[in-house]
Amino acid sequence: MRYEGVVYRPPSEAGSLIIQLTIGCARNTCTFCAMFKEKKFRVRKLEEVVEDLVMARKYYSKIAVKRIFLADGDALIVKTKDLLYILNKIKEIFPEIERISAYGTPADVNLKSDEELEMLKAAGLDMIYMGAESGDDTVLKDVKKGVTSAEIIEAGLKLKKAKMVVSITLISGLGGKARVKEHAINSAKVISAIKPEYVGFLTLMVEPGTELYTQHKAGEFELLEPNEILQEMRLFIETVDAEGTVFRANHASNYISLKGTFNRDKEIMLKQIEQAEKNGVFKPEMFRGI
Ligand code: SF4
Repeated sequence: MRYEGVVYRPPSEAGSLIIQLTIGCARNTCTFCAMFKEKKFRVRKLEEVVEDLVMARKYYSKIAVKRIFLADGDALIVKTKDLLYILNKIKEIFPEIERISAYGTPADVNLKSDEELEMLKAAGLDMIYMGAESGDDTVLKDVKKGVTSAEIIEAGLKLKKAKMVVSITLISGLGGKARVKEHAINSAKVISAIKPEYVGFLTLMVEPGTELYTQHKAGEFELLEPNEILQEMRLFIETVDAEGTVFRANHASNYISLKGTFNRDKEIMLKQIEQAEKNGVFKPEMFRGI
């Protein structure tokens, strides 16, 4: 397999074969994101991608490849006919495959028709990781996400209609001190409207080279203290109504680790937050990471 630049994948794809269908992110506007700043977006030539699949098959000739993740930042932007071609090649080369997944921005999803998403699902694209980041329109505008909360809900519901598994990421603290309440409550409303299979929270870390880093250094964006992050999380959990959604906030960037299933485990997680606030024990900054 050949990889270009740093390759990112969701934590739950740690055991998957990663194949770069695209390089970089077609959007690349988000002020907090440093992932693909060094890469100029392009869709790889399909024959190169197939060559990588064949190389991987030779490498894993005696190992079953059950999961493949299509990188980089938003493989769903690829034309549907080309995606279908690659999905069919994956099934031909790896008949044992059980799950194919990719990142898809809400804007990518909304560019596909219901029929296209259904065709992709039927061809084996089972799961989409969608970065919503926030459900608050002011925050979304400030961080240049390029979509509104209504468009995020539209995208999530389209994926569900196509029977794809939906995993949504939100970012604690993304509204800074100015939008704690709105970020928490409106994000909860988006998740309640979509009821995705999974929702995960990272906690904001400002990375050098990003627009948000410059804003922070200029005093235009205030990071939340750990106890404020927990207040925001408490408000999110109290507000959300998403029966059956698996919740994870146990990423390296989070100050405390939370996990459970909505709505069943809301009280347990709220108690864990209360306990952490009382003890004042949070992950030290030096151990946090993206
Ligand atoms: S957050 Fe996602 S959509 Fe935004 S620039 Fe980063 S990879 Fe692209």
